[in-house]
Amino acid sequence: MSVAICLFTADLRVHDNPVVRAAVGAADQVVPLFVIDDGVRDAGFVVPNRAAFLADCLADLDGALRGRGGRLVVRRGDVVEEVARVAEETGAGEVHLARDVSAFAQRREARLGHMLDRSRRRLCVHDSVTFVVPPGALTPASRGHFGVFTPYYRKWSEVPVREPLGAPDTVPVPAVRSERLPSGADLADGDPSPALPRGGEEEGRRRAAAWLDGPVTRYADRHDDLAGDATSRLSPYLHFGCLSAVELVRRATAVGGPGAEAFVRQLAWRDFNRQLLADRPETAHEDYRPRNDRWRTDEALVAAWRRGRTGYPLVDAAMRQMAEQGWMHNRGRLITASFLTKTLYVDWRVGARHFLDLLVDGDVANNQLNWQWVAGTGASTRPDQVMDPLVQARRFDGRGDYVRRWVPELAGIEGGAVHRPWLLPPEVRRRLDYPDPVIGLAEGRERFHRARAGRTEPH
Ligand code: FAD
Repeated sequence: MSVAICLFTADLRVHDNPVVRAAVGAADQVVPLFVIDDGVRDAGFVVPNRAAFLADCLADLDGALRGRGGRLVVRRGDVVEEVARVAEETGAGEVHLARDVSAFAQRREARLGHMLDRSRRRLCVHDSVTFVVPPGALTPASRGHFGVFTPYYRKWSEVPVREPLGAPDTVPVPAVRSERLPSGADLADGDPSPALPRGGEEEGRRRAAAWLDGPVTRYADRHDDLAGDATSRLSPYLHFGCLSAVELVRRATAVGGPGAEAFVRQLAWRDFNRQLLADRPETAHEDYRPRNDRWRTDEALVAAWRRGRTGYPLVDAAMRQMAEQGWMHNRGRLITASFLTKTLYVDWRVGARHFLDLLVDGDVANNQLNWQWVAGTGASTRPDQVMDPLVQARRFDGRGDYVRRWVPELAGIEGGAVHRPWLLPPEVRRRLDYPDPVIGLAEGRERFHRARAGRTEPH
């Protein structure tokens, strides 16, 4: 009996999963393996929100495999050592794995390759599992990645997207030891946010079907409406690979129209960030365009930002949405990140870390590079743009409904006045348990521009 290992990482699904299909096609039996990896925990990536979501994903994947005559095999430890052990125990001749881009994933792939080489086993790495267009498939003549989105997107749109693969009918699994499925609490200490979405492929597919069945057609017009909540909310399912980006692009393209087109364009941003991180893995921590900022350190200001107590209702609403749901609207992410890195002039890494501590879709490529994009150290073509939360409020939450939803102290204030509580009559103002602005917007903007003017221009 030949045996292959299918090592799940960020591809926790059975539909359109080239790793699963290849492993099933390559051997008589397959070990569908997930390793609770000490390395990921030690790197600080296992936080309560993502742990709870991951536990759902693993339970769901186990159910899908059981429905096909198999089950999920769970181990805990160093991923490479555990794969070596399982290969020894089962006599597996090859290991199938999805390509991924972070420095950690690249090291994991290299270490697995060496270990398997030594024992004369084969590592089969599959592209196009977590991306639509894999990193390296599109490169400008002069360098290893595209540094600007628009030309990348032009090329990306021309690449034919492969047919999605069905789920395998059966997954025969050999006798091999498995730990029990972990709960979220087994994976991380601390309580998850109260209103987290449920994880797993089944839930992801249900949400994707509902999204593509109607709301996607209104995405182009409504995606920035904060209170309207008119985006797909599929990001955590994409992050854990419960959904295939390839399948989403194919299905959205079949829907057609400006909404579906705009949605597919956002999926291209995912690939854009991934091709950049694959080529420059150090940008998870270092400026993409080094600027040598002398960032301010002011713990009290950062604490106010984290807690959603800056005195700017739109910034505070978005921060509180993230605390409650482990998710924040993209417009909110832009506004809160600009406020921290430009108005307060605090290092983007401080904000990125806080987001990674809470976001259920928290993702090295998308989080770190979007933070850099907003901070002006990344791939943005307008690095010095400072977002004014009051202008943003007028454009994207004109009636103030988003703020009233997330900042209960201000729930009684009607209309757009909710965005400027400092203008309320003093007797109303005094009754509110809501802080005065921690900084003047003009003061913050001027300091940022002064600081930038004193530095060498980014190259
Ligand atoms: P939709 O608007 O429905 O978009 C569909 C999908 O496209 C998303 O699920 C996501 O996979 C992808 N996408 C959308 N916008 C972007 C983008 N700007 N960059 C890359 N991919 C995108 N996204 C994450 O998945 N993880 C993160 O950790 C993350 N951190 C961010 C931090 C900051 C400071 C900013 C400005 C953005 C961040 N984003 C991150 C991107 C974006 O905000 C989220 O992907 C989006 O809000 C998720 O909601 P949705 O699924 O409803 O998105």
